[in-house]
Amino acid sequence: VTSIMWFRRDLRLEDNTALSHALKDSEKLLLLFQVNPEQFLTESLNQQAFFASLTAFQQNVNRNAHLQILYGNPQESFQKIKDTLTDWDRVYFNQDERGFGNTRDREIEKFFKEQGIVVHSYMDHHLHGAKEIKNKQGSFYKVFTPYYQQWKEKIKPTPVETPFNPKIVIKETLFPKDEQQLEELIADLPDQNSDSIGEKAAIEQLNRFLTEDLSDYETARDYPNLDKTSRLSRHLRTGELSIRTVWQELQKQKNSIAKQTFEKELCWRDFYNMIYAANPEQKEQPIQEQFRFIRWQNDQDNFSAWKKGQTGFPIVDAAMRQLNQTGWMHNRLRMIVASFLTKDLLIDWRWGERYFQQMLIDYDPASNIGGWQWAASTGTDAVPYFRIFNPTTQAKKFDPSGAFIRSYLPELRELPEKLIHEPYKMSEEDQRNYGIQLGTDYPFQIVDHKEMRKKAIYAYEASKEFA
Ligand code: FAD
Repeated sequence: VTSIMWFRRDLRLEDNTALSHALKDSEKLLLLFQVNPEQFLTESLNQQAFFASLTAFQQNVNRNAHLQILYGNPQESFQKIKDTLTDWDRVYFNQDERGFGNTRDREIEKFFKEQGIVVHSYMDHHLHGAKEIKNKQGSFYKVFTPYYQQWKEKIKPTPVETPFNPKIVIKETLFPKDEQQLEELIADLPDQNSDSIGEKAAIEQLNRFLTEDLSDYETARDYPNLDKTSRLSRHLRTGELSIRTVWQELQKQKNSIAKQTFEKELCWRDFYNMIYAANPEQKEQPIQEQFRFIRWQNDQDNFSAWKKGQTGFPIVDAAMRQLNQTGWMHNRLRMIVASFLTKDLLIDWRWGERYFQQMLIDYDPASNIGGWQWAASTGTDAVPYFRIFNPTTQAKKFDPSGAFIRSYLPELRELPEKLIHEPYKMSEEDQRNYGIQLGTDYPFQIVDHKEMRKKAIYAYEASKEFA
């Protein structure tokens, strides 16, 4: 009989729960990735990055086995397999606990049942799954701190031995047309730096971070210019890196505040996964009912200026250009630009969430929606609506010399520290001296922070009254 190992966001051969079971229990095994065009986005760095990782994974698997690609809607794809491999009777995969993946899993499981296919599905993506940590009443937590208190006491899962046996894997290409379709799809994508993707690169990045940067993490992680965060998000998103491996390697480091802070960040990942599983409508709707009636201004020109990094607020613009150029943005900057979009521009957080979905190479719906609802003050345990970030103060605090701003805004490179955060204050003479014409080379501020702050507070209070 034949089994299928269905890979999704677990693109790795080591420490993979479903794969370890599939290898142990099977006589003949089909390794599969199913490409579903329903999930496609246009002009998306996120998608490009995922396909680059998929291609790297396929090359790795194909060295001594074969990763079969199927293209189309999942049910049609599995029907095709059923028609081709008549002795197929089992499927293995790592579960999705929330969002699109969860809905897809529930639908396809009905199909498997009808076809007599036995499903073996496993928890694999998180240190603690969405339903594992509940409060005394047996309900989901809403606030992070008590969740974290319980989370940190719980024993963490250890890496799963996954001895790969290529002998049992079906190597013949069963669906050449589907593989060709994937090749055509990725042919036009810009080359990704292959040194920074794949399972091996992910482990190297983990080791580099732990040996070189972890000790400074506590003090340096908030400063975008220092680039001292782990940069593991991309690998965790594709599953090139197992979270259990991260935890195990982290535990080998000596105890420190930095280590605890990093552990806490990993807890946020589990927390937001739990929040999304508990609030499946969260992508479309604010969690807090009192903020479902905010009258957003949703000005298209302002939205476009925000996306392009042309708002006249250097820290916001540099951050957005980092996103557009690299597909990644530093956490402090994600908070600043999300706060700016929602409170300074009064643009619906869902617009920002979708733009991040399109651009982020580490896009994870639970963390992204969680981050946006936090910044928009609509989420659970979010920043209070009246505590509004001042983008200029944030910039002076977290990029004091303006080094980060200069690295993404070449037009401001010559500005001295006293002007780098507020170029709109340049006199005519300054503009001549530094060779910048405001309004031409760099925009004036598109909004007045003080005025918008008042408007935002009013919009949130009005929503509360209406609710
Ligand atoms: P590190 O500081 O090294 O953190 C290590 C790991 O901990 C990260 O890789 C990530 O898995 C986890 N982590 C850290 N902070 C958070 C957090 N606040 N929430 C959840 N997990 C966290 N993270 C994503 O992985 N995908 C997203 O789509 C995403 N969107 C965000 C949107 C907004 C508006 C905000 C404010 C935050 C978002 N984050 C998202 C969280 C955070 O910004 C990134 O995880 C982090 O910047 C990734 O870089 P790193 O791996 O170097 O982080």
